[in-house]
Amino acid sequence: MKYKTKHSNEKIYYIVAWIVIAIMVSGLLIDNPRFGEFGVVYIFHSILVFILSLCLLLYPKNGTAFLRLIIIVIASTYFYTLFLFYPETSSTYVFLCFIPALSILYFDSKLFYFSLLLNGISNIIIYGYILLADGVQYRFIEEDPIGNFFNFVASQIIVYFIFYLTNGRIKKQQLYYEQIQHSERLRTTSQLTAAIAHEIRNPLTVVKGFLQLFEKDSSFNDDQKGKFTLMIDELNTAEQVISQFLSIAKPDKENVMEKVNVQAALQSVTDLLHSYGLLHDNRIDLTVTEDCTILANTIEFKQLLINIIKNAIEASDIGDVVLVTAEREKDFVVIKVIDHGQGMTEAEVASLGTPFYSLKSKGTGLGMMVCFTIVEKFKGTIDFQSAIGHGTTVTIRFPPSSPSY
Ligand code: ADP
Ligand code: MG
Repeated sequence: MKYKTKHSNEKIYYIVAWIVIAIMVSGLLIDNPRFGEFGVVYIFHSILVFILSLCLLLYPKNGTAFLRLIIIVIASTYFYTLFLFYPETSSTYVFLCFIPALSILYFDSKLFYFSLLLNGISNIIIYGYILLADGVQYRFIEEDPIGNFFNFVASQIIVYFIFYLTNGRIKKQQLYYEQIQHSERLRTTSQLTAAIAHEIRNPLTVVKGFLQLFEKDSSFNDDQKGKFTLMIDELNTAEQVISQFLSIAKPDKENVMEKVNVQAALQSVTDLLHSYGLLHDNRIDLTVTEDCTILANTIEFKQLLINIIKNAIEASDIGDVVLVTAEREKDFVVIKVIDHGQGMTEAEVASLGTPFYSLKSKGTGLGMMVCFTIVEKFKGTIDFQSAIGHGTTVTIRFPPSSPSY
């Protein structure tokens, strides 16, 4: 379909280009007052027609910005040549007013501004020439220079307005097209990732099974068994993350709702991330003012906080403290994760949750997407307050499991 549209667009372009060339050649041959002379003017006019025709025909095969620039410069020269060397055809002045409109056809805003500027300067020079040097050839301008000049300015404003509206609409369409492409890519990627996650789960189960056997095997000493336990714990975490990813890819599956004790969950998450924070000497400070429960899934709730606290630690400077607080505020349980790290701009905050958006060299850009999905799933909200150089406060609100809990 796309190919077909492109093909028919090209056909229309060539038809229009050939019509334009035919008109230009007619201007050279039919009733041209300089035709018999074959002087410098006529030769210059012919060369311009030839180069312009060549550029128009080459453009579809080699549509570079440079060729567009050449076409606009040659076309401007062509129209000004017609105006200057054929003063008896006064209607040529109309073309001068609409030269910048040509560049609108190429959807190139820089080229449009260039053409508008070039046309303005050329027109002022032409006015100067007519009023100061020329005697009688351009009576319509000489008799009413101000009126003509205002009309020229008005025509440039109209052309600009057409450009502004067309350009805005095209940009919107482009954005829409990119979004569709992006979501299509994302759909394919998430299907693929879900399939891979599923495949990884099987070997993990086998390895875990053997480790559980070794854990009970008396031929291993306590030190070795301790390491097996640690390995099993790590495999459990990996399994949980995979299950979670699969549950996000298939949102209706494994949607187990339970009462989650916020303090206990936060405690276990901060304990888990304690050693991660120590890598850069960051401490996690947990303050829970009221014991409260929410309706969610414990594993997913923990995953949400792990992602957010990890981001806070990663954004913090060496030695900074990350604060985690939980309290009840009216009809919500409010959890805050506060860091005093690098912070984000408004645009960066707006990009959070976009899949694969990451400013870290080793980031996946999936953490926030997972967080948004989890928060939405359990009817919560998530807000970000951030200032570059001052840090970020992430505020998560969940409805409590019961009004009085
Ligand atoms: P990742 O951590 O893999 O980069 P995330 O989805 O978790 O992906 O985060 C996306 C991006 O958002 C990060 O790369 C980071 O630039 C920004 N970000 C998230 N949280 C914070 C924070 N607390 N402070 C500063 N930037 C943050
Ligand atoms: Mg992250």
